[in-house]
Amino acid sequence: MDRIFVTQSSMPPYEEYIEMIKPLWQNHCLTNMGEYHRQLEEELKIYLGGRREVSLFVNGHMALEMAIQSMGFPKGAEVITTPFTFISTTHAIIRNGLTPVFCDISSDFTIDVLKLEELITEKTAAILPMHVYGNICNVEEIDRIARKYGLKVIYDAAHAFGETYKGKNAAEFGDLSVFSFHATKVFHTIEGGAVCCPYREQYDTLYNLKNFGIRSQELTVSIGANAKMNEFQAVMGLCNLKYIDREIQKRKKVIQAYEEILSEAETITLNVRKKEVFCNYAYFPALFENEEKRDHIYDRLMAYGVYSRKYFWPITADAACFKNKYKRDRLENARDLSKRVLALPVYADLDLKKAVWIAEFIRKEI
Ligand SMILES: *Cc1c(COP(=O)(O)O)cnc(C)c1O
Repeated sequence: MDRIFVTQSSMPPYEEYIEMIKPLWQNHCLTNMGEYHRQLEEELKIYLGGRREVSLFVNGHMALEMAIQSMGFPKGAEVITTPFTFISTTHAIIRNGLTPVFCDISSDFTIDVLKLEELITEKTAAILPMHVYGNICNVEEIDRIARKYGLKVIYDAAHAFGETYKGKNAAEFGDLSVFSFHATKVFHTIEGGAVCCPYREQYDTLYNLKNFGIRSQELTVSIGANAKMNEFQAVMGLCNLKYIDREIQKRKKVIQAYEEILSEAETITLNVRKKEVFCNYAYFPALFENEEKRDHIYDRLMAYGVYSRKYFWPITADAACFKNKYKRDRLENARDLSKRVLALPVYADLDLKKAVWIAEFIRKEI
């Protein structure tokens, strides 16, 4: 059997991409908010519910960093966040000179709103949750707590592209929602990302941050860096956006194949999707009884050329680089789930027969 990786980037039809980049050889406009950049922002705005401005970035991490920076929090302020996420979320907070305060997670892998309030101090400026595996956070409760204490909310929505919860798009939660369009995500621009914000002034602030604060040849209005998306990325996005619905449907079939078989396995716990969520089927996390069993399955699959991923393990609070600098007690649930979880391969073109083979192999091995 050929090797199967945990994910595989979707590619639009080759001719469509080539046809669209041809004009770039005439106009030589490769970046600096070109025509395709403008077009992708417009199309994404519509796709993401139509109510938020969409500001494109060179990648998801810079989108997250600049989303945080755009809020202007005082240096040293605290941001309550989840440790059960990709390291980017935590790094983005720290690289802004802010202190991450880790909150435990609940059984749906998202931040535990019952443990959130007790972490709030006079230094707390914001809450930064993540919609893990596309499981939309308890947005109502997070919103209530944020209002009560006057906190900002920034969602790392990297896993939730295309999702809606009770009819509202994932882009529309919190003060800002941030997406990654990395090649491994459901929707991608090779590398890329976006910040979705309700106000035009925020869009302008983000524009300045990602473009050196330059508004015209003679006018630099603020201090900024460079985090712009280029035209080749934007074209990839425009092409991929045409196929996103089909993409999600194909992923759904893969996940249904897994579920049909693995729901029979008593010692495996599957991810529960909320009824109110239109799901993007980005990931398939399976929870095993303990770390030993999880690692056993990981190794056995690997021996057959199937690459699953211990996603997320370890939790970001335990990353070696932080060297005990940040408090990381009372994260029992996050650590426990992180030791037991395994993300199985999911991508649109994963052969259903292979998905069935993987699920049956696991059921026999467990
Ligand atoms: C992918 C991802 C990011 C970072 O995005 P890049 O586009 O790779 O920079 C941040 N947070 C989460 C949860 C992610 O999955």
